[in-house]
This record gives sequence, C-alpha cells and structure tokens, in this order.
Amino acid sequence: MSHSKNNSGPIKVAERVAHFKQDVWSIFTPLAAQLKAVNLGQGFMNFPPPDFVRKAAITAINTDDCNQYSHPKGRLRTREALAKSYSPLFNRTLDPETEVITSAGANEGLYAIFAGFLDDGDEVILIEPFFDQYIANITMNGGVPVYVPLRPHGDTNKIMSSRDWKLDINELRSKITPRSKILVFNTPHNPVGKVFSKEEMLEIAQVVKEHNLLLVSDEVYDRLYYKPDVHERIANLPGLWERTITVGSGGKTFGTTGWRVGWSIGPKNLIKTVLAAQTRIEAIAISIEEADTHDYYEENIVLYEQRREKLCKALSDAGLPYTIPQGSYFILANTKRINIPENYEYPEVLNGRPRDFKVCYWMAKEIGVVAIPPSEFYSEENRHLGEDYARFAFCKTDETLEAAAKALLKLKKYINE
Ligand code: PMP
Repeated sequence: MSHSKNNSGPIKVAERVAHFKQDVWSIFTPLAAQLKAVNLGQGFMNFPPPDFVRKAAITAINTDDCNQYSHPKGRLRTREALAKSYSPLFNRTLDPETEVITSAGANEGLYAIFAGFLDDGDEVILIEPFFDQYIANITMNGGVPVYVPLRPHGDTNKIMSSRDWKLDINELRSKITPRSKILVFNTPHNPVGKVFSKEEMLEIAQVVKEHNLLLVSDEVYDRLYYKPDVHERIANLPGLWERTITVGSGGKTFGTTGWRVGWSIGPKNLIKTVLAAQTRIEAIAISIEEADTHDYYEENIVLYEQRREKLCKALSDAGLPYTIPQGSYFILANTKRINIPENYEYPEVLNGRPRDFKVCYWMAKEIGVVAIPPSEFYSEENRHLGEDYARFAFCKTDETLEAAAKALLKLKKYINE
C-alpha cells in the first residue's frame, strides 16, 4: 500500500497547523484569571453593551426567523443596515445584495478573503506589528506572509504619539515580488493605535496600484478615533475602490466581541469571491440602524477618550513612557527601563519567548496587571522591535482602570531612572 500508516499512536496533526505555538491569548487570559490580576490584556470590554444593543439582541431572539438559517451572504436586514450606514462613508450607494457580506467576526471575513484569493505561494504583505490571527488565516490558505515594520521616530523613552510610528514607503516597495498578491492595511491600528493620514495612505495606494495588488483594509476600529484625528477610508482614494475589501466588526463598535459579527464591503466582483459558511445575528442590524439615528458613535468616542486619558495618566504616574493612540483602544508602553530581578522564575511555556513575554508575566504576578506582549505581532526577524513594549487595553470599566492605576504604581521601585 502506498499510503501505509501506523495503526497506533496519536492522530497526526496536519502540517499546516503543527508548527503553531501556543498563542498569546491562551497564555495571558487564563493567567489573569488565575492570579486575579487586573486584566488589561485581551481587547474585550468588561462593561455591558449599551442598552439599545442589548434590547436589539432580545428583539432578535424573539423574532422567529432570526434563529434559523439565513442567506450565505448574511441576513438581508444586516446587509441593508450596513449598506445604509456605510454608503455616505464610502461616498457611493452600496448595494446590500452584491457589495456587502457578513461573517462570524471580522476574523472569519479575513479568512474568507484569503481563502478566496490566495493560491499556494502567493505573498501577502503585512505591516508590523499586526493582529496575530492574520498569520494562521494566510498560511492555512497557502499564502506566504511578507513583513514590513512601522518604525517609531523620536525618543521612545519619552511619551510619543502613534503618529510618530511610520511606514517607510521604500521599505514597503523593497518587499514587492512577482508573487505579491495582497497588502493588508489596518487603521485605526492594533496595537499601535495609529490612525493613518490621507497622505500616508496615498503613498500606499500608489504602490498597490502599480503592482496590481488586492488591498485588504482592516478597519475594525473605524468608529474609535480621537480628536483631532479622523478616520479616512483608503477605499475612497482614486482607483482604490476597485481593488479594496474593507473589513469591519460589530464586536468593537457595539461592545459585543463575543457575538462574532463582522462584515466585508467592496465591489461586486471582489465580494462575490468572499463566500464562507457563516452564522449571523440580526441584533447587529438593529444596533446599526439605531446607532445611526442617535449620536452613539460620537458619544462612545467621548467615553473612550476618557478611558484613554485614565490609562495614560496611570502609565505616566508609574513612570512608563508610552505611545498615545490616535485610535483603537490600546496603548503600547515602553517597558525597557523596568528592572526585573535576574533570577526570576518563569513557567515552561515562556521558554525561548522574547523579553516582553517575561515582562508581562512578571508584571501579572508581581504587579497584578496583565498586558499583552506585542512581539507576538511581529515576524521572527523583526520580533526584537516589539520586545521593549507591552500592550494595555483600555476598553475596561473605570473601576478596572483605577485598580490598574493603583497596582501600576508598584512598578516605580523597579524602574531605572
Ligand atoms: N482585526 C484587528 C486589527 C483586530 O484587533 C481584531 C480583534 N482583536 C480583529 C480583526 C478581529 O475582529 P473580530 O473580533 O470581529 O473577529
């Protein structure tokens, strides 16, 4: 027999997943629970969704057909609500039948895009640091990630702005090969909090057009940007609508990360390729309809600005420099000056992991605050660029942020002046 195999032993895992290391979420989220530490790690809210969103969920569950199969593109009401809400933002009338598709979270939408467009060996350019799930979504579909980092300009030992993290367009150009197929772009950015300016986007757009790339614009934080910045949509630049799929998420917008509702918006010929098995929740449709008639997005931004302020102050008081984010709900703090006792013991799961994993583990245990090590958001070759940072999420209650502020003061005695 040509396909002989052992009749005993563990069932062999597929090559495409066998190399995956334990991901950062499954290390630090359980650690927070185990240590009862203040959890500013994973980006989920520990406050309830707004009333109108919760009411929408109850209405949806009491509507019989909402509990049953829906069209593979997503429930019509959701697509209609998305088309209506996003048409003015894309300066065009979106067709809910052909230009909008929903998914189980933005993450599944991204997976479906890579599944729909990648052939084995096609290259996908990622701007580092990046949302770590991109990698599995790309490699499981035969794609090869290629990396180009955002680099902080200025003194990283001082408070800086996410505006100071810049992409070198020539470095991006140097990564293009005949196999380049997709560029993944993310604004507002996780974890830097950068909101790309129109000028920066124009440069990227030029490269994308010159090399006939598909642009995947991950805009899951599109409703979270802070004054004076505004979120520009790269698909609105000349010649970009035709080659851009914009991905969004109900989880970030409505404080419902567990509902797993996302969407992709783009031209008909691209969206038709993005088909995947999906489950959808009509409550997001109702929420979008209502959000547009109230001032939900503006009011939400004000609340998040207050949370950002609280966490910035806490980090300043603790003596940690950081990057003030223009958008999203994360702050990168520079942990370089934290002096961790040399013989500190780490669990086995951290063996061979970079310094930031160790700092975050130590901080969880000794300071009582959990943050995420961002080196996970870089390629092997550029991992060192993330090693001096920790990512703190501020989508948390005032009480949690105040508890974090108090705990973080314990850092002071470990910080080198
Ligand atoms: N993209 C980015 C940049 C993210 O930060 C996240 C969630 N952390 C996602 C995509 C996935 O969104 P969802 O939860 O809707 O799948």
